[in-house]
This record gives sequence, structure tokens and C-alpha cells, in this order.
Amino acid sequence: MKYKVLVVEPIHEEGLRVLREKGYEVVVATDIARDELLEMIGKFEVLIVRGRTKVDKEVIDAGRRLRLICRAGVGLDNIDVDYARRKGVEVINTPEATSIAVAELVFGLLLCLYRRIYDAVRGMKEGVWLKRKLSGFELYGKTMGIIGLGRIGSEVAKRAKAFGMHVIGYRRHRLLETAKRLGIEPAKSIDYLLERSDIVSLHVPLTKETYHMIGERELRIMKPTAVLINTSRGAVVDTKALLRALREGWISGAALDVLEHEPPKESWEWELVRLPNVVVTPHIGAQTIEAQRRVSLELAHKIISLLEG
Ligand code: NAD
Repeated sequence: MKYKVLVVEPIHEEGLRVLREKGYEVVVATDIARDELLEMIGKFEVLIVRGRTKVDKEVIDAGRRLRLICRAGVGLDNIDVDYARRKGVEVINTPEATSIAVAELVFGLLLCLYRRIYDAVRGMKEGVWLKRKLSGFELYGKTMGIIGLGRIGSEVAKRAKAFGMHVIGYRRHRLLETAKRLGIEPAKSIDYLLERSDIVSLHVPLTKETYHMIGERELRIMKPTAVLINTSRGAVVDTKALLRALREGWISGAALDVLEHEPPKESWEWELVRLPNVVVTPHIGAQTIEAQRRVSLELAHKIISLLEG
């Protein structure tokens, strides 16, 4: 059978080529409006999205022939997975493919913050030699607390150890076994980790339980010298509380790849982005050529094996 695949967000060409070679009809319609999606989806067996497209009940109901919803990437928070499965539509993602890219970005952001690389580069480009003003910190000997020790958190832990850091980790299940495997200290609780860490890095999915997991109470537990790194999902952190924490010195800095609204829309969010002790990137965690190629190939092979049996 010649399956029809609708791609509504940009994905690497390689996987699409594999699908076309298999005889599938692949329609790429990136940046289509929601009403266009609702109109088109009824003709397709497969829908490929990334994190921007909301695949809710209305979209799933409109997809009369839909068999597979594919998330090119990890987080499934934009897809009503339960409803899809109840309607017999399988939901798949590529959880392994982007872990290294995100873990590497954590250290890019952290070094940027710790060594003030952004200020240094900007100074140079503006013709200003800021050498004496740009004293930073070393990662060596610091304590890194990792909340969520899954695929990405584990890769972050390995790299933190290579920098000579002491690593404390927390996850909900199988904590002791994971900590032992990684050679890190298991945290008795999130508070235990927050109290001791110089750097706190978040690697949990966004769920009802993790929504605003880091709020005023947690930020006040952290050391005043500590920095927070968030490359998971914006809403894991109460952004308004973070803004106050950074303005009032409850913690010393933050590095963020994700925000509650992407791009930011409220004036207080832009205020956060512009603070001098904040380094922020526009959700580029998975944006490496290698990761995107891996995502698209892995997805293509999963689609073929699920549809062809
Ligand atoms: P994963 O499922 O492998 O790991 C998640 C970890 O969080 C697990 O250890 C789990 O036990 C833990 N966890 C879940 N709920 C928890 C809770 N309430 N309290 C404590 N721990 C909890 O996921 P992953 O592949 O490591 O990805 C983590 C998240 O990173 C994704 O869900 C996604 O939101 C985000 N992500 C961001 C980017 C980016 O571009 N910045 C790219 C990929 C993934």
C-alpha cells in the first residue's frame, strides 16, 4: 500500500528520502495554519511533527485515516497521547537521538555563564578589551545536581564527572541503581540536592507533577551562589519566581534553553531574558546536524517497521 505521510515541521531530508524510496507519498507542509492542518489531515496515515504543533483531540478526530503520529524528538507534551491510543492511533518518538546534543549544550550554556563568554565576545566585537572585568569560575571541584537521571541527565552526569565535578543526582524510580551505574551520589530528596549544588540542571519531562517543580520554595533553598540550568521544558520552572530569584539574589544566575512561552511574549519574560546574569538560547538543544539526521532516520525506520509489520 502507498501510505501518505504529512510532515508539518522541518525535519532532516534523509529520513524523508528513505520513506519516498519505500514508495510512500511524503507531503511537506511546514508552518501550515491549524485550520489547514485540520482540513488536510484526513487524507494521511502518518503525521510527523516536532514540538510546536498541537496534536489534540480535534486534530486526531479529523485524521480519519491516521495510524501513526510521529514526534521527531523527545517530549510528547504537545500530543494528546492517551486520546490517540484510545482511538487506535500509535504515537512514536525518537527519545535516544537527541540526548548527546542536549547534554553538550548544557556545558556550552554553563561555561558561557561561568566564564562570561557572551560578555567577552560581545566586548571584543564592540572593540572593548574587558580582560580585567571578566573573572569567572571553574567547573572543577563544583557540585552539580542533576534532577532527572534518564537519557539526557545520564549523559550530563558523565560529562560533569569528566570536568572533575562532584555529581549528585535525583530521579523518581531506580535512583540507587542508576547512581551506582553512573558513579554519582544519589540525592535523598530534591531538597537535599538543591541545598548542596553549585549548579542545578533539570532533565525531567513536563508532566502534571513536574509543572513548576522549581518555584519560589525551591529557589530559596538553593545557595545564593548557585546557578540553574534548564534545557528540559520551560514550565518545569515557575518563571516569575525565577525572575524574582535572579533580581533579588536568591541564586546567582541561570542558563535557559527553554521558556514557558516560546518565543517569550510577556514583558516580564523579556525582562528575564535581558538580565545580565541570564544566558538564554531559543530551544536549540536538539539542533545539531547529527541529532536531526539521527531523528529523521530513526523515525523513518520506525514508521516502515510499524506499517509494514
Ligand atoms: P527520560 O525519560 O530519559 O528521563 C527523564 C527522567 O526524569 C527520568 O529519570 C525520570 O525518572 C525522571 N522524572 C520524571 N518525573 C520525575 C519527577 N516528578 N521527579 C523526579 N524525576 C522525575 O527523558 P530524556 O530523554 O532524558 O529527556 C528529558 C527531557 O528533556 C524531555 O522530556 C524533554 O522535555 C527535554 N528535551 C529538551 C530538548 C531541548 O531541545 N532542549 C531536547 C530533547 C529533550
